[in-house]
Amino acid sequence: MKDYIKTETGEWEAVVGLEVHAQIISNSKLFSGASTKFGVSPNESVSFIDAALPGTLPVINSFCVDQAIKTGLGLNGNINLASRFDRKNYFYADLPQGYQISQFYHPIISGGYVEIEREDGEVRRIGIDHIHMEQDAGKSIHDQSPTKSFIDLNRSGAALMEIVTKPDMRSADEAAAFLRKLRSILRYLKTCDGNMEEGSMRADVNVSVRRPGTKLGTRAEVKNVNSIKFLTTAVNFEIKRQIELLEAGKEIEQETRLFDSSTGVTKTMRSKEDAQDYRYFPDPDLPPLLLKQSRIEAIRKTIPELPDAKAARFQRDYDLPHYDANLIASEQEIADFYEEALKSVEADNEMAKILANWVIGDLFALLNKHGKTISESRVSSKNMGELAMLIKTDVISGKIAKDVLEIMWETQKSPSKIVEEKGLKQITDVNAIESSLKEVLAKHSDKVAEYKSGKEKLFGFFIGQAMKQTQGKANPQMLNEILKKLLSV
Ligand code: ADP
Ligand code: MG
Repeated sequence: MKDYIKTETGEWEAVVGLEVHAQIISNSKLFSGASTKFGVSPNESVSFIDAALPGTLPVINSFCVDQAIKTGLGLNGNINLASRFDRKNYFYADLPQGYQISQFYHPIISGGYVEIEREDGEVRRIGIDHIHMEQDAGKSIHDQSPTKSFIDLNRSGAALMEIVTKPDMRSADEAAAFLRKLRSILRYLKTCDGNMEEGSMRADVNVSVRRPGTKLGTRAEVKNVNSIKFLTTAVNFEIKRQIELLEAGKEIEQETRLFDSSTGVTKTMRSKEDAQDYRYFPDPDLPPLLLKQSRIEAIRKTIPELPDAKAARFQRDYDLPHYDANLIASEQEIADFYEEALKSVEADNEMAKILANWVIGDLFALLNKHGKTISESRVSSKNMGELAMLIKTDVISGKIAKDVLEIMWETQKSPSKIVEEKGLKQITDVNAIESSLKEVLAKHSDKVAEYKSGKEKLFGFFIGQAMKQTQGKANPQMLNEILKKLLSV
């Protein structure tokens, strides 16, 4: 389906391309041994190289190179056996070298793609133009003092990958789906933690509009968007702004814009700089980066099963619905938790579905409520599997299971133990259920008469009363059947 935007003058099509800066997971920086730990005091992790003291020389961090190769393989790209570092020259107070070491002419990865699924179920392939490595700059801090600015060089020299897409996305939703999928893959690969709040992933967003079928329009680039929500807002704002300008007979200027997350508005920052403004040239301090095929093959062996493959396997092997499979496979930790839980009990497909429901539903809700990730869950995968088993074998009803899960979270006890201690076992004894229903009907004989004269809504009332009497322990299905039988005589 096409996401054309209809206005009084006809249809428009949006075009979006992203340049995603992803900080490489690595203990030390791209050309120095300084630590990359987040949250330390300002300027604590700064080596002479990061501060650009005269006489220092950069040395490439080979682990960071491995991480970039791994990313390229995970994103279906070509790993270039020869790449090179260039200097991108510009002045900024938080850039002590006066240039950034980047890869402009010969990046380490060319091509690649990420598949996204649209809301309507259509799968679209978003092309990756290239991925290059570069250093991060430091940070200027302007909001600590009314008269001074501060510089923190902790991030100076940290290794980044810039992942540049083709202009292949056609809406804010597609751009958001791309960024989500990319983040999920990078996390599986363990090459970037994808933590946008901490700045370890941020995107420059290029947006243009055109009449369907015509050539690409002039784009505006919105800098440093640091959440998926902001990405959506910024793209939609740009689409609207550009269409309004064009419809008023004006032209779009190619420019760099800033997104204000408090207002959802983008504003001009500067007119777009060109490559020649940066005076790119090969960094004379660094030799070309030459890779052996054997190194690439060794890294290829370390690529884990990625989210799409995993979701497909979940559908195939456990017969999980598409939605459940994708959600569980979206994070490695969730998928591992789920599969460990399955393995801890004798799981068939019915069990797999029950477990999926409980993980996606109630466990996610609990994690959310307590602000925890699945790795920090107070309910173990084994206990979660056991809970699903108790539900499947009708030992407890779904309603009781909700309470049991809460207690599991609080006490970290196993569900069987909780059920036993609190006497929560489901009542599946026909006689017991029948006698408690008979009691309810006898107590409410007036309502029984009303029911029989046509007020069928009262069925639920009787069920409710019987549940109350059995403290929620009566098997709901049996309760229904027996009540029907009793009321029909
Ligand atoms: P530069 O390096 O000057 O920023 P590129 O041509 O490399 O420019 O493109 C940068 C990003 O802009 C890429 O993600 C690309 O897909 C995107 N892009 C290029 N042209 C357009 C366009 N007309 N509309 C939207 N995005 C575009
Ligand atoms: Mg750019």
